[in-house]
Amino acid sequence: MSDAQKVLLVTGGSRGIGAAICRLAAAAGYRVAVNYASNENAARSLVAEIETGGGEALAVKGDVGVEADVMGMFEVVDRAWGRLDAFVNNAGIVDVKARVDEMSAARLERMMRINVVGPFLCAREAVRRMSTRHGGKGGAIVNISSAASVHGSAGEYVDYAASKGAIDTFTVGLAREVATEGVRVNAVRPGIIDTEIHASGGQPDRIARIKDMLPMKRPGTADEVAHAVLYLLSDEASYTTGAILNVSGGR
Ligand code: NAP
Repeated sequence: MSDAQKVLLVTGGSRGIGAAICRLAAAAGYRVAVNYASNENAARSLVAEIETGGGEALAVKGDVGVEADVMGMFEVVDRAWGRLDAFVNNAGIVDVKARVDEMSAARLERMMRINVVGPFLCAREAVRRMSTRHGGKGGAIVNISSAASVHGSAGEYVDYAASKGAIDTFTVGLAREVATEGVRVNAVRPGIIDTEIHASGGQPDRIARIKDMLPMKRPGTADEVAHAVLYLLSDEASYTTGAILNVSGGR
């Protein structure tokens, strides 16, 4: 391990798209902090897999919707590696299928707390460490939005779609706010991706049901999203900030 090795923190890095980002980043030479909310086994086995492959990784527990947890997870990375070069706001949830006229205040508050307030708090901590205004050396942030932000998810989960709309606007605003401070901020908008998130929203058959309506007649893979994220984090994207890249198979 060299001190020049970049450090990446991925929220919700233990499963799905986040895990694919962690694997690809480790293979590209990043030291990777894998955040998770509750499934410790998934996080630990990903860390072990990365270490077996010769990489360096760390599992960090924390709920992005809880400010103390967010501060704590960045402090764990500070103590372990003393630097932060890249950050991915990936953790996100869906709720069960419902119309807006059926949604409770508790559901809406949980959705916005985890999918919007959490990413704001995490990006705040990342900027405090990366921005030259705060004595940092610069860095890159990627937010995971969703094609739902454009389509609206009518009849399914408009709350989720609106939370991702907030992420799109947040990406553009924060990118401009820190553009002269060495920090680039971009987003990726995945379409339908084959992960466990659909089952967690009570629709394990969602992909099978809608795949024939997708332009490519198939869902995307977590790896296909991860490649886009790794590009946006890399120096090859040095003039790209405030961009929102669709990785949605034409949807
Ligand atoms: P997933 O397979 O359900 O994995 C979710 C990950 O986020 C897990 O690592 C989970 O940790 C973690 N997580 C959940 N709530 C958290 C919280 N409050 N704090 C910290 N970590 C939390 O999800 P995915 O499909 O990979 O989705 C990842 C991102 O892509 C989300 O932002 C999602 O909205 C977005 N996205 C997904 C799709 C898709 O079709 N899959 C499409 C567009 C956008 P535990 O293992 O501990 O539960």
